[in-house]
Amino acid sequence: MRGVIVPSMSITRRNLMLAGAGALAAGTTALGTPASAAAVVDYPGAEWIPATSSNFTVSTRPSSYPINVVVIHVTQEYYRDAIAIFQDPARKVSSHYLVRSGDGHIAQLVREKDIGWHAGNWNYNTRSIGIEHEGWVDQPQWFTAQMYAASAALTRAICDKYRIPKDRSHIIGHNEVPGATHTDPGPLWDWTRYLRLVNN
Ligand SMILES: [Zn+2]
Repeated sequence: MRGVIVPSMSITRRNLMLAGAGALAAGTTALGTPASAAAVVDYPGAEWIPATSSNFTVSTRPSSYPINVVVIHVTQEYYRDAIAIFQDPARKVSSHYLVRSGDGHIAQLVREKDIGWHAGNWNYNTRSIGIEHEGWVDQPQWFTAQMYAASAALTRAICDKYRIPKDRSHIIGHNEVPGATHTDPGPLWDWTRYLRLVNN
């Protein structure tokens, strides 16, 4: 995600967990029953929270473009603020999925058939799925066991669906996209742990 915003106050793990539970309950109320959400998402269990149509490109992947890369991001924003950015037509940014730190809850914002604007590289956007993770690259306490596990299960499902090899050539950081000006997910993201979970 663009921009680096340092949180104005530290948040304890306990408060984060409580905030996450509240956001989940609010989202369920606002968006309808889990059954209706399940009908639209590409990943069972994800919550459908659509990005504005101004922030992605409608497509017919994988027929229009093959999907052969998963790009891992860290938001540099709180979960709720990241969603607001994806829903703001002025921001021109989106990701297919967003994983919440406290509980591993997954929001889907862009259909997998459509092209998210997350990699900063059109070629990589056309052939990738973008997964954002709530947190800050220099604050590894945001990279919780719940978030690693939920994200790895999502990446595993994506790789199985599109026959993407589960390796570091195909599961890459935003910083590894050619021409990337962003550093996420950063050196504190545990790639060894993540790939082990993806390959479980
Ligand atoms: Zn990024």
